Amino acid sequence: MLQRFSRLTANHRLAHAYLLVGPQDSGKTQTALSVAQLVNCESEKSKPCGECAACRKIASGNHPDVHVIGNDEMDSIKIEDIRFLLGRAQLMAYEGKTKVFIIRNIELMTPEAANALLKTLEEPAANTLMILTTSVPEDSLETIRSRCHVVKFFLKEENIPNNRKVLDEMLLNRNNDSFLKELSADPKEITQALKLLLSFFRDVILFKSGVSKAALVHQDNLKEMERFATRGFEELTLIIRQIVQTKELVDENLNVKMSLSLLREHIWAN
Ligand SMILES: [Zn+2]
Repeated sequence: MLQRFSRLTANHRLAHAYLLVGPQDSGKTQTALSVAQLVNCESEKSKPCGECAACRKIASGNHPDVHVIGNDEMDSIKIEDIRFLLGRAQLMAYEGKTKVFIIRNIELMTPEAANALLKTLEEPAANTLMILTTSVPEDSLETIRSRCHVVKFFLKEENIPNNRKVLDEMLLNRNNDSFLKELSADPKEITQALKLLLSFFRDVILFKSGVSKAALVHQDNLKEMERFATRGFEELTLIIRQIVQTKELVDENLNVKMSLSLLREHIWAN
């Protein structure tokens, strides 16, 4: 994957924005960081060398021209985050050659944030590279996709512990009141469960988009995946949004029972 970017850089054909699409844990963020090293590396020989000051600063998250926004904790990306980035994009590069902005999991952007980002993609600042990542190839973010070069990633290995009970209770049992009650009592448990559900529904969307089974995290839940894949993209996105909203409530120590019930309704909607 990195070789492809190396060639583009060597030939001065690197575009100003890329969207890396693939399941969780398929190496998108690592590749984005390696590309940031590639374009800022000070070595005369093979780039990225991993040893020069620029490479090391990027690896440790301390390079003033390389910014990473978004995480795996399902925190939504807000307009303030994008505005911060826009401010930085207007500045000269401090020490690097190219300013690199990595925005992870863009499906978690609020609509306002997505709109602000869109403007940046339309009028790219000089010497700026945007690398966006997402696990949800089909989303309401079509306009953003259309302004980026899309690069597809595939899963290397399964990293998500498959908690069969959570999926069984949430996807197969409509009368799961006692499970929801049990779950909502423990913030740690519920966060784990929401992560699992999020990765499942991301898989459903990938599956529905025609991604090969080998690239999915939840290959052993193919039956359920086929069932949910008959739903529209909009409905599936709604489920994902509800999962993310529930996670936000957990973070704020608020009661999540209502939110979980609503999630159940979305899951069982027909
Ligand atoms: Zn280097």
